[in-house]
Amino acid sequence: MLGAVNPPVFENSLFTFATAEELGEAIRNEDERYVYWRGTNPTVDLAQRKLAALERGERAKCFGSGMGAISATISSIVSAGDHVLVLGAVYGPTTQFLRYLEKFGVTHTHVDDLAGCDSAIRDSTRLLYFESPSYMAYAVVDIAEVTGWARERGLVTVMDNTWSTPLFQKPLTMGVDLVVHSLSKYIGGHSDLVGGVVIGPSRLVRPLALKEYQLYGAAMSPHDAAKVIKGLRTLPVRMAAHQERGLAVAAFLQDHPAVRAVNHPGLPSHPGHAIAVRQMAGFSSLFSLVLDTESREEVGAFLDKLRHFRIGVSWGGFESLVNAPALSTEESVRATMGIPVGLVRLSVGLEPADVLIKDLGLALEGVGRLA
Ligand code: PLP
Repeated sequence: MLGAVNPPVFENSLFTFATAEELGEAIRNEDERYVYWRGTNPTVDLAQRKLAALERGERAKCFGSGMGAISATISSIVSAGDHVLVLGAVYGPTTQFLRYLEKFGVTHTHVDDLAGCDSAIRDSTRLLYFESPSYMAYAVVDIAEVTGWARERGLVTVMDNTWSTPLFQKPLTMGVDLVVHSLSKYIGGHSDLVGGVVIGPSRLVRPLALKEYQLYGAAMSPHDAAKVIKGLRTLPVRMAAHQERGLAVAAFLQDHPAVRAVNHPGLPSHPGHAIAVRQMAGFSSLFSLVLDTESREEVGAFLDKLRHFRIGVSWGGFESLVNAPALSTEESVRATMGIPVGLVRLSVGLEPADVLIKDLGLALEGVGRLA
């Protein structure tokens, strides 16, 4: 419109109609027509069309947060009495949401691999939920193998693809039924947005757009949709830069004597590297390392020494971030998740890799003396 390079932001909470008949018709087809922003909005629609195209899905629905998308998606699939299989480590609040569903009679089981799925599956199992690479450990799931197993057993599969972005991994092309993302990470890219999306076939996305999206009310605002559209424009260049810096930092850490392990699927030494290379077109820059220590205090001191990695939650922005579960998660919870005390998560931003490597090198000096 008017040659504008940026699409206009439709700041309309509602849309009006020439006749009562037209309003009635629009309400009956609310996922296609603009009636009220909690259901649909043209700017949000534009972001949805771009995300669906990038992920190779028929339809997308954007939400006010990644958790909004995840909770609505799971709710749209399960009913009272159903069972959910959770494969590998997933984002903590996703597990918390599944626990919350227990009061509605929906149960779940965490399993580590397909053998675990085989023994945990029940007649009531309806959904298989997973991430790849997995949360905190960044283990790789063979997506085609898992979706083949699930399809043979009539299960719906939902995968969180936030880590890779649709640029680096397209799970729908590997048999996943529905893909969810937090848009608050790489896709937004500037740490100024919280949003989510679910992408998949219309037969699965349309019902949840009409029901769970409207009823839970985690609607995306048109302003945030405009930020998503801006984020998508620079996503390829940002992801290339994140990949390069993340791999350089991971390679440095891998050889450092104060580091026990580096969990980055882009490293050839990672156990899931061969599968990752087969099913992914690139690697983002969120990964973990394990410091050579059993001391919570030493982990805290390491974080405090860093100057270019800022201490904070979330990831995928321009700024490098560091976080350590031992400092925020109860010891018993950490132990059940198999997370060692020394595990530190890095989100490598867009600063030059040599600056970040120097920063880490200085902070690592002396780590391990208490081990
Ligand atoms: N999925 C993953 C893997 C995440 O790390 C997060 C947030 O950190 C979410 C989903 C939830 O997204 P949001 O914070 O946008 O609700």
